[in-house]
Amino acid sequence: MPAVAPSPADLDVSAVRAAVLDWYDANARVLPWRRPPGSDAAVDPYRVWLSEVMLQQTTVPHAKPYFERFTARWPTVSDLAAAEDGALMAAWAGLGYYARARNLLACARAVARDHAGVFPDTEAGLLALPGVGAYTAAAVAAIAFDRPANVVDGNVERVVARLFAVETPMPAAKPELKRLAAMLIADDRPGDWAQALMDLGSTICRPKSPLCLMCPIRAHCAGRATGDPERYPVKTKKAAKPHRQGVAWVLRDGQGRVALVRRPDKGLLGGMLGLPTGTWSDGPPDEAPPSVADWRDAGAVEHVFTHFSLTLAVRVARGEGDFDWTPEAEALDALPTVFRKALERGLGAEDPLEPGSEP
Ligand code: SF4
Repeated sequence: MPAVAPSPADLDVSAVRAAVLDWYDANARVLPWRRPPGSDAAVDPYRVWLSEVMLQQTTVPHAKPYFERFTARWPTVSDLAAAEDGALMAAWAGLGYYARARNLLACARAVARDHAGVFPDTEAGLLALPGVGAYTAAAVAAIAFDRPANVVDGNVERVVARLFAVETPMPAAKPELKRLAAMLIADDRPGDWAQALMDLGSTICRPKSPLCLMCPIRAHCAGRATGDPERYPVKTKKAAKPHRQGVAWVLRDGQGRVALVRRPDKGLLGGMLGLPTGTWSDGPPDEAPPSVADWRDAGAVEHVFTHFSLTLAVRVARGEGDFDWTPEAEALDALPTVFRKALERGLGAEDPLEPGSEP
């Protein structure tokens, strides 16, 4: 059995690569945007790009049905480029990080307009597209075009941090992890390599309780040799997230419709449909309702965004006004998660006009 390398320079890179690729050949996850490992079948760069954008900050099981719906509705990048902004934003609802949906559309339109609907096949060409960052460019270059690009997502960072027992805490360790990951790249099967390392991180080298006994590179792993691989990547203590409070107003018209508003393009949930709501601040909310009505308290919902957590009080009423009146079932599908939660609570509350309600 090979010994754990005392330093990165001593790692038997060929042995590590062979072990990971052999493992991948037998254990690759079957995903709708992939070709089988080792296959020469053409990969559709549109599907790879779309999946990578969806998978940023989203799990595979959560992204899969979205991917299937998107590709059924917009089978090519040119179809997506022709989509209405509102239709795409509604289809994206629930995936979060809505700036990505706007970037998705900008990128699809640039590919359709400037590249005749064909994605550039190099990392540099991909990077020049609007909304395509270093990670996505590397992932599409490797997976769709078999370019030896250094694809480093959270799964890969974890495997590399453990393999080399990197002691630098995150996020300062990121450049070091990227450099170490680059040591493992070769011209042989670069697309499979990128996916193999991601799969290894996702299914074996899991954040909690890594399955070291099943790991193809356990004999090389310095993290495992320490006896506490889970400690890597070393974390920096997180500052507590700020907490904000606000109100979501659920105004119903008595004909099965609810009042929605289109949010401003810039800012949080920009361009999405939402319930009327005011400013979210760190004190108790004190804002005027969006219309005169008999408003009732319907409790509150909690939501956690990347940079803050939120308690949203829900108030319900029957009424009218100048809003985007939307059938309730349709609104539940189209709203981003925070507003969907608030609407569900509002719809579940006692209807002020139902017989038997307190005046
Ligand atoms: S041996 Fe364990 S810690 Fe090391 S890469 Fe494999 S699963 Fe991760």
